Amino acid sequence: MTDLTHRIAAVLREDVRALSAYAVPPSLGMVKLDAMENPFQLDAELRTKVSRAVASAALNRYPDPRAGELSRRLREVMQIPAEAGLILGNGSDEIISIVTQAVARPGASVLSIEPSFVMYRMSAQIAQVRHVAVSLRPDFSLDLDAILAAIVQHQPAIVWISYPNNPTGNLYPDEDIAAILAAAPGLVVVDEAYNIFAGRSWLPRLVDYPNLMVMRTLSKVGLAGIRLGYAAASPLWIEQFDKLRPPYNVNILTQAAAEELLLHMAVFERQAEQICAQRSELSGRLSELPGVTVFPSDANFVLARLPDAPRVMNALLARKILVKNLHGAHPLLSQCLRFTVGTPSENELLLAALIDAL
Ligand SMILES: *Cc1c(COP(=O)(O)O)cnc(C)c1O
Repeated sequence: MTDLTHRIAAVLREDVRALSAYAVPPSLGMVKLDAMENPFQLDAELRTKVSRAVASAALNRYPDPRAGELSRRLREVMQIPAEAGLILGNGSDEIISIVTQAVARPGASVLSIEPSFVMYRMSAQIAQVRHVAVSLRPDFSLDLDAILAAIVQHQPAIVWISYPNNPTGNLYPDEDIAAILAAAPGLVVVDEAYNIFAGRSWLPRLVDYPNLMVMRTLSKVGLAGIRLGYAAASPLWIEQFDKLRPPYNVNILTQAAAEELLLHMAVFERQAEQICAQRSELSGRLSELPGVTVFPSDANFVLARLPDAPRVMNALLARKILVKNLHGAHPLLSQCLRFTVGTPSENELLLAALIDAL
């Protein structure tokens, strides 16, 4: 070992050295159907409006640390209950990390229902909080008894619920989430990253549940590039989480762009409708392919089980189509690929490539 590797080994946490970084595959020149991005570009008129808003931002100054104007617009456009507190993040990934750090006491645990979004587990590892995973049933429905038993046993400080769930695409029954809220000793976070495609939300119920936090992001709406996530909960929770938030975490370009874009949410609503129509089309056509099982989705992606998913994934790569291989990620996801719904022509390319590969 060189001097430097010795030095790094001597000062860095062992668990940090053992981590692998969040992997993002190269995508230049690919049909990109791996990351639930919105496939539509903004039209020229809206781009001009955003450019103007960004051009007039005071780049020499730190941004408004509380993002006051942006918060007001978010509250109005997203109909966040007036009684709720609101925290903004550099993506909702940052909010997951902040909330996890806040509960990281010795002996604390957090619970998520797997397979689900990997950042719940990763943030727990990084904050050195014990992570408890409760498995979904093989049909991806909630195993409520198992969740309630794990809550009693582990008393998790946070329960993470992805709603709809990434990567399975389904929503969970209201009564089940209500039962989890009633049983959980700490905070229950309903992560509504895919809300615009799902049409069901726990946001209006924040007032009824003091231990509920509803988290969302503009990423899947169609603005993954600007990095803006937000979460609403009782101001008593938000006040505490705000102490861990880096003071200027939402930069001035994001604030300026988002303030303008939030005036045009109808554009994204229409795109979401098109994406949902394409989702039905894609799901229907996928299910006609030999040996393919398609799972119902309320999000902008479709999970499918195929004969030899890793081989199919490679065949798609050879045709410059990037999808997410989930085989090996969790036992319930064996032979599964996740397809982000693209434009009609991207979906046609995908289907043609799949027909060839199968
Ligand atoms: C994509 C995703 C996020 C992260 O969104 P960012 O705001 O881009 O950080 C959070 N939760 C779920 C379930 C997701 O799929």
